[in-house]
Amino acid sequence: MFKLFKIIAKAGEPTTKYPFAPFPVSPGFRGKPELNARQCIACAACTQACPAGALTMQTDSRAGRREWALNLGRCVFCGRCEEVCPTRAIQLTQEFELAVASKADLIQRASFRLENCACCGRPFAPRKEVHHAMDLLRQSGLALDDTLRGLYATCPECKRKRTIERDALPLSRREEERA
Ligand code: SF4
Ligand code: SF4
Repeated sequence: MFKLFKIIAKAGEPTTKYPFAPFPVSPGFRGKPELNARQCIACAACTQACPAGALTMQTDSRAGRREWALNLGRCVFCGRCEEVCPTRAIQLTQEFELAVASKADLIQRASFRLENCACCGRPFAPRKEVHHAMDLLRQSGLALDDTLRGLYATCPECKRKRTIERDALPLSRREEERA
């Protein structure tokens, strides 16, 4: 009997005290993804990359908003969203306790404002994404004057229209406009 107690004392505690004490996970453990909405530019790269359809994005042009949602009930913790995010806005945490009383509680949401086209006034892209693109151009050394800023804040349809109109002008007029 004494020998048995000695073996037990030597072996230590074979089980953890979870849930009364935190369960240790390895440093590379892939747990619940978390969004930092302040850092997110609503570019939709994560929703395109998500293999499980856990991430979705809906654009409501009438309300001028883009709605981002993560359904943790569908997430397979693959980490693709984290890999493709250009601003490190979504990252996997070490959190694994996902039990909720209602399925609706598994859904996380964020809402982003759309930028209105400088030409036609219709919303066309997330405001934060447009500004992020402009910031990147500025950082690469491009001087952004009002004309360029207006161009980047213009929807693709208006840009196309402008190009067609400009190309229809005689060469002399085009050169005049460029000058
Ligand atoms: S971890 Fe994988 S499955 Fe989960 S939201 Fe990110 S991309 Fe989708
Ligand atoms: S990829 Fe990153 S920045 Fe783009 S929508 Fe997803 S979380 Fe936001």
